[in-house]
Amino acid sequence: MKLDPALLDILACPNCHSELRVDDAAERLICTGCGLRYPVRDDIPVMLIDEAEPGEPGAGAADPTQSGGAAQSDGAGRSGPAAAGGPSAAPAP
Ligand SMILES: [Zn+2]
Repeated sequence: MKLDPALLDILACPNCHSELRVDDAAERLICTGCGLRYPVRDDIPVMLIDEAEPGEPGAGAADPTQSGGAAQSDGAGRSGPAAAGGPSAAPAP
């Protein structure tokens, strides 16, 4: 996989706008913020959230000691007390 470093420099995660790092073995770009894994096809990064695979948040930060982050764990942001602030999509009881 050959990616232009200048290209990587301007690329950012469309989901959280964090920097991306290259996973040569998997031929993917991994977001250092939300952990989404973007495929690379024909040396062209596919920067689509729909095409990305969900990863572990913080997995791309190259800091394996950070394992206690529960702030952005999966599913935590979807349903919870915080959802009470949005009455637009309130489910009927
Ligand atoms: Zn991201």
